[in-house]
Formats: sequence, C-alpha cells, structure tokens
Amino acid sequence: MSKRDIKSMTLRELGDYFSSIGEREFRAKQVFSWLHDGATAFDVMTNISEALRKRLDREFVITVPELVEKHVSELDGTIKFLWRMTDGSAVESVLMEYEHGNTVCISSQAGCRMGCAFCASAIGGLVRNLQASEILDQVLFSQMESGRKVSNIVIMGIGEPLDNFDNVMLFLELINHPSGMNIGARRISLSTCGLIENIDKLSEYSIQLTLTVSLHAPDDETRTRLMPINRDNGVDNLLKACGRYFAKTGRRVSYEYALIDGVNDTPRHAELLSDKLRNSGGHVNIIPLSDVPERKLRGSSVESIKAFTKILKHNGVNCTVRRSLGRDIAASCGQLRTRLSQTT
Ligand code: SAH
Repeated sequence: MSKRDIKSMTLRELGDYFSSIGEREFRAKQVFSWLHDGATAFDVMTNISEALRKRLDREFVITVPELVEKHVSELDGTIKFLWRMTDGSAVESVLMEYEHGNTVCISSQAGCRMGCAFCASAIGGLVRNLQASEILDQVLFSQMESGRKVSNIVIMGIGEPLDNFDNVMLFLELINHPSGMNIGARRISLSTCGLIENIDKLSEYSIQLTLTVSLHAPDDETRTRLMPINRDNGVDNLLKACGRYFAKTGRRVSYEYALIDGVNDTPRHAELLSDKLRNSGGHVNIIPLSDVPERKLRGSSVESIKAFTKILKHNGVNCTVRRSLGRDIAASCGQLRTRLSQTT
C-alpha cells in the first residue's frame, strides 16, 4: 500500500487520524505546524514521541521537491526555480520582488492541456495534476531556498488551476491556515484561461481571492485562434460568467491581455475590448508578449502597446502595462515549462 501524502491533509483530517489511533488531537496541530514550517522528515518533530514518529514514517510520506535549477535575474533579482517532484515530473516557480513584498508565481499542474498558441507551458501537453502539497511546497521551499518571506501568491505558473480544481481549493485552505503559512486569500490571485463551469463553482466558495481571466482577445475569431478553450467557452459567455462571479463574491475580475503583433493589437481590437469591458469595472493587465522560441507569434511594438492602452483609457477602461520580470532567465509570463529549462 502506498503511503499517504500527509501535507495534503487538513488539520481536521490529521485530528481524525490521531483520534483513530488513540492519540490526543493536539498532536495534529503539532504535526501540521512542523510540516508547514518546512520539516522534511518526521524525526525532527521532537515534541512527539519516537514511537509515534516511527509510526508516522511508516504510514505517511512528506513531499519534498528537489531543487534542480535556480536562476537569479541580473536585471531585477527575480529567481526562477525548477523543482523535481517525487515521481520525476518537474515544474517551475518564480519569486519576484515588488515594493509591497515578495510574490511567488506557482504552478498548478505539470504541463497543461489547454494548448494556447503563445504559451510555453502547453508544449508537450499535460503530464499530471499537482497535489495540494506540491502546490504548497513551491511557496514553502521558494521561501526557504531564497531566505525571502513570501507575502503574495499568484497561481499563474504552469497549468490551468481550474482544471485541477479540488487540489487547488485544498491548497488554498492549507496555505490560509493560521497554524500553517497563514497567507490570506486577499493576497492570492488565481489566473484561468476561462473554464466557465469552474468559475461558477469557485464563486460558490466566496473566497476573497483575485480572479484573473486570460482574455487576450475581445472577439471569438481572434480568441479561438489563440486559445482552443474559446471554441466551447466563447468570449460573451465567459464575460457573463465573470459578471456572475463579481455579483456573487463582490470581487472584481481582472483580465490579462498579451499584445501580439498584428493578431490582437489593432485599434479595432482595443475599441471592441473597451465595449465589452466598459461596464464591468474590471481591470486589464496588458502584458507585452514574452518570447517563446517555439512559437511564431511576436510581441507588439512599444508604439502599438501605447496606442492600445491609450484607446482603453480614453474609453474609461482601467488598465496597466505589466512589467516583465526575469526576462533574462526566461521567467516571464508564459515562459515556464515542465522538464526542460532553456537558460544557462
Ligand atoms: N492557465 C492559466 C494560468 C496561467 S497564467 C491561464 O491561462 O490564465 C499565465 C499567464 O501568462 C496567462 O495569462 C497566459 O495567457 C499568459 N501567457 C502565456 N504565454 C504568454 C506569453 N508568451 N507572453 C505573455 N503572456 C503569456
């Protein structure tokens, strides 16, 4: 029988376990704190008897990602980590420094099956979903490896978080726990390519996180060309789902829009985008397209970015151009990969 992944267990589940073996329930809190403090083995848990530690070791596994590569940007201090999970699959995470604190961008899946035409994470398809513990480990071990305290999280690395819904929800519960890392939902952003059913499902939880939708085009023709998901979940239905999300949670949705030369960056696109978002109150993050060597698409010129932004602002749509961090280490939006890392 394979051992159970103890870091994916909630405090309540741990409590039930300890009760079931005749141990006092407060053991759960002790073990939970050790795990979320970065313990990599049971034998360091010195406030627990040796016999119990041995038993835990027989029944459970503590996930520990192996750090395979670490790249530090000379431009802005951004750090990219490549981790190998216990089964050999690998994911990347990126630690960025902002004025308001350190933000870690984490992956929710090894690989991705969404197939967006501009994104490196989709090359090679989906390998597997990450467990809640493996999503959490990226925050925990980025912090430990860098010595920098993480205050904010963006689930914007490899994978589609709403395609790994249950594990991502469990991760949010674990990371939020006062006996764990205690990072509140208001300091977490989750980005989705637009899985409508799961946006509705997420709204039922009324979590105070920031939902970000990768829109990238205001019309179905352009969006379907870039993002296969749009064939089933067209722009208007997606925006309606975002409206429902706002109505239900009181949290405005943000939109990501990567400007691609000659594809989605014309004044016509800017006007149409304004029409669709004007009354949503949503914020648009304009992202200069990051280079992905395998992809033929190129980023828009500085002039086109300026012109596009000007039209949105003129039409009363809130927008900012996102600063690209970690460009020299291939750590920018859409450049993260499963397995191979291309920087030296
Ligand atoms: N699957 C989720 C989470 C990934 S977040 C999603 O689609 O939102 C990563 C963000 O970077 C998404 O907005 C994605 O569309 C964007 N992105 C992907 N490739 C990019 C590229 N080459 N340049 C800029 N942004 C890119």
